[in-house]
Amino acid sequence: GSYDSTQDSLTGLSNQRALLDHLDEHLGDSRAVGTTLLLMDLNGFKEINDRLGHQMGDSLLVAFAERLLAIVPADSFVARLGGDEFAVLMPFTVDRFAVTESAAAIYQELTAPLDVHGFPVTIGVSIGVATAPQDGHTPADLLRASDVAMYRAKRTKCAVEFYDNCVRSPQHGRVSLLGDLPAALANHQLYVHYQPQIRMDDHSVDTIEALVRWQHPVLGLIPPDEFIGLAEQTDLIGPLTELVLRAATVPMRLAGRLDMNLAVNVSAKSLQQAEFADHVLGILADTDFPATRLELEVTERALVTNVERTNYTIAQLRAAGVRIAIDDFGVGYSSYQTLQRLEVDRVKIDREFIGNLATQPRDRLIVSSLIRLAHDLGLDVVAEGIETSQIWDAVSSLGCDVGQGYGIAMPMSYPDLRSWLTQWAAVTPTLPVAERV
Ligand code: C2E
Ligand code: CA
Ligand code: CA
Repeated sequence: GSYDSTQDSLTGLSNQRALLDHLDEHLGDSRAVGTTLLLMDLNGFKEINDRLGHQMGDSLLVAFAERLLAIVPADSFVARLGGDEFAVLMPFTVDRFAVTESAAAIYQELTAPLDVHGFPVTIGVSIGVATAPQDGHTPADLLRASDVAMYRAKRTKCAVEFYDNCVRSPQHGRVSLLGDLPAALANHQLYVHYQPQIRMDDHSVDTIEALVRWQHPVLGLIPPDEFIGLAEQTDLIGPLTELVLRAATVPMRLAGRLDMNLAVNVSAKSLQQAEFADHVLGILADTDFPATRLELEVTERALVTNVERTNYTIAQLRAAGVRIAIDDFGVGYSSYQTLQRLEVDRVKIDREFIGNLATQPRDRLIVSSLIRLAHDLGLDVVAEGIETSQIWDAVSSLGCDVGQGYGIAMPMSYPDLRSWLTQWAAVTPTLPVAERV
């Protein structure tokens, strides 16, 4: 075909030069505020190219370009910058939320399989986002900013990354979720699910564990493992714990269900804060929830770092009647000595040891000795991750006190918990657990 200095000959898209020209014109316009540049790069393209050959590689790029053109918002400017790098310029997008939404939609569409010579090929993509004028007001600056963001997206293995998140935290591996977390806290996107823990002897409900959930407006339901760490790296874990405490204590008290304990997870960092105990007790006073009905679940790791401070916080809480459970017990730090020094009430054996208990003699041995160790120290034992009646029977025969797991009840919303509790109480307590659910 004919040579065109602004066009990419393989895909027919504009090239980098055309993009920069276009940006230059555009950024001069006063309405350019909110102009957003998405820079994207295919993951693993080089491997595909090497493995399947250049022809297939080229076809993949063409297919990708076509897909991209088809899904971007109207009036976007699409370019191939060379290699497997593409850019989308979205003019006049002022709203961060709209940008997040478009970027997530583009990401989803792009990662669906492409047709390459009749073969379905799935390819990952990393997207970096920069917005004018805050992230750069010249074409080159904006491009560089989106490049920084994209590089970060690649490193953190996260689909979409915003430049302003990168600059706020150049030294940490925080992903773009972090930027959304404050809004999540403010806008009721975080809520609590509840999972019962049952006494193994009489099948009564012993404790209800509160587990936080995040309904993200774009990414959907995000499990706590993906954002608790982020919250811990920032000062958001304090507000998050407070939110969970308030969200969980209020309905439990209103429902008059003070015949069971409420368990709330607390991160290591919180326990090291001097004002944490006062804070918790303040919330209990506020929500009129008895301290003797609250249990805090703390990981073992939390208990063995900064022991002095942590022990002080724990002592304050226990003096007020709050109980402390060691969560994820058994995964590496338990020594008889450490346990002896800690003033706690119960341990929760990690579900890693529980899952194969019925079939793995080794796991059975570990659980059996963990239970004996805890009982020798006068502690109550909870087994988490009970998924079947065989496991319930196995754990129960080892003398465990309390059980929790999908086989008994899933974590559920508060209304669901209420009907579950009613139903559970109605069934004869002597029936085996598996037949009661
Ligand atoms: P965890 O404290 O060990 O909580 C138990 C996790 O195991 C929950 O996952 C629960 O849904 C899951 N689980 C329960 N029964 C079973 C089972 O039978 N089989 C299997 N495979 N899993 C089961 P979830 O809700 O995703 O929570 C993950 C972790 O996030 C929690 O682990 C806890 O460490 C943390 N977390 C949750 N909520 C909070 C919170 O409010 N604050 C803090 N700091 N951490 C929280
Ligand atoms: Ca827990
Ligand atoms: Ca656990």
